[in-house]
Amino acid sequence: MTAVNLLDFDLQGLAAFCEQLGEKRFRATQLFRWIHQRGAFEFSQMTDLAKSLRDKLAGTACVTALGVASEQTASDGTIKWLFDVGAGDAVETVFIPETGRGTLCISSQAGCAVGCRFCSTGHQGFSRNLTTAEIVAQLWFAEHQLRSRLKRPEGERVITNVVMMGMGEPLQNYAALVPALKVMLDDHAYGLSRRRVTVSTSGVVPMIDRLRDDCPVALAVSLHAPNDLLRNDLVPLNRKYPLDGLLWACQRYLDKAPRDFITFEYCMLDGVNDTPDHAEQLVALVQDRISCKFNLIPFNPFPASGLTRSSNERVSVFARILQDAGVVTTVRKTRGDTIAAACGQLAGEVQDRTHFKERVLTRAPIQIHAHRAEGLA
Ligand code: SAH
Ligand code: SF4
Repeated sequence: MTAVNLLDFDLQGLAAFCEQLGEKRFRATQLFRWIHQRGAFEFSQMTDLAKSLRDKLAGTACVTALGVASEQTASDGTIKWLFDVGAGDAVETVFIPETGRGTLCISSQAGCAVGCRFCSTGHQGFSRNLTTAEIVAQLWFAEHQLRSRLKRPEGERVITNVVMMGMGEPLQNYAALVPALKVMLDDHAYGLSRRRVTVSTSGVVPMIDRLRDDCPVALAVSLHAPNDLLRNDLVPLNRKYPLDGLLWACQRYLDKAPRDFITFEYCMLDGVNDTPDHAEQLVALVQDRISCKFNLIPFNPFPASGLTRSSNERVSVFARILQDAGVVTTVRKTRGDTIAAACGQLAGEVQDRTHFKERVLTRAPIQIHAHRAEGLA
């Protein structure tokens, strides 16, 4: 029998598992705290659990993290881990330190089926959904690894914010996502508030409604275009869920959202979606309709896209049009370095999945820009 990975459970799931072992449900809380608050992975470490329970767990369960295929640190402190998830697949997790907070950008799938034109994960295609354990393991590993590296006192968190903005479309892996979010929010685990956990989606409308009911964390929607014609081309999911329905879903989400606005992400593509006319169309789309903030993202180029980044000047003109119309707009800062940790560049170098380890070890550094998740969580 293969051991059950306890990283797969939210507290409720762990309580059910303990019951199956013939244990009281409250034991789950102790176990959960050992795993997530203290980073324990061996049952023998969990000294206040009854010896009989520790023995039972040792025979049936495990706490198994992901294998680290590589780790790269940029001069600004941004760290990117590439995790091996088996069968030649790898996913990336990025830690972005800032004064007073630490943001972890987490992956939800190996590859992505949405296929956005400007995203290297999209170009890679879909491989598979991550399990809850694989999503949670990214946070578990990063938090405890960094806590011990930075010599933080017990209980002091390194990661204060999580953004589901790594590889994959989180709302196309809903069943695994929700328990993972619950672990992030649970006071017996990471205790993050709902406003410090952000799900970013390309617009899976029915799942936005479900998230609103099941676990309404902060929502970021990747808009990228002010009309259906252009959005159909950039974000193919728009053909299934066009803009009008998406905006209605955003409005419904606001009833339960932890903040009183939705963040719209807009990747600035030179000559494609960045003209003053596009900005004016955007204003017309959202003004007097939805409480929102815009986050303009400088495009992180990769060769297969055939697209280029808008000039700073163009981005400023675009931002000014939105701001002058009263739409709160920030431009995401880039942090120049050499580790390819920016959104949309994740795992771009592992397209040949069978050889990702060699590639990671041998590839030359590429000039890239890691983003700050400013204004997002
Ligand atoms: N699938 C989800 C979350 C992962 S992508 C989504 O699309 O929202 C996270 C963010 O990175 C999205 O806003 C996405 O549009 C953006 N992004 C993707 N490729 C990019 C690139 N090459 N340059 C800049 N941003 C990019
Ligand atoms: Fe998938 Fe998001 Fe990339 Fe689009 S931008 S392909 S939805 S990961």
